[in-house]
Amino acid sequence: MNPCPCGFQGSDRCRCTPDQIRRYRDKISGPLLDRIDLQVDVPNIPSDKLVEGKTDGDSSNTVYQRVQTARQRQLGRAGKINAKMSSREVVKYCVLSEPQKALLHRAITQLGLSARAFHRILKVTRTIADLDDSATLNIDHLTEALGYRITLSR
Ligand SMILES: [Zn+2]
Repeated sequence: MNPCPCGFQGSDRCRCTPDQIRRYRDKISGPLLDRIDLQVDVPNIPSDKLVEGKTDGDSSNTVYQRVQTARQRQLGRAGKINAKMSSREVVKYCVLSEPQKALLHRAITQLGLSARAFHRILKVTRTIADLDDSATLNIDHLTEALGYRITLSR
């Protein structure tokens, strides 16, 4: 999905009004948005960087290795990847501390999310921790997972 009707939000080329942007984003229903785990703003990459192939961030090979390690961790723990975990497995493997639980409940209330979203956020948090090679969930993992929810809610 584009960030605005013209697709150039954030650059000089965009002439969309805040009202147009809100109406455009409202076209996605709440229940559908509820099922989208990763809502990420993707900035435009300047064309010269694309042409040279020089973009910021880790190389594809580094990322590939990290994803493979995280997948192995998931299969070793639950016998399946995090996305396939049942509600019971989420409760078992995505253990939050009391302050983390309080933060998550506050965020869910503020964002108007459902019980389904609650479990989905926990799975994403677990996956971020796996990519971080961490056995436990910390507040950074949780806030990153919540951050992916907040993007389109602004
Ligand atoms: Zn625009």
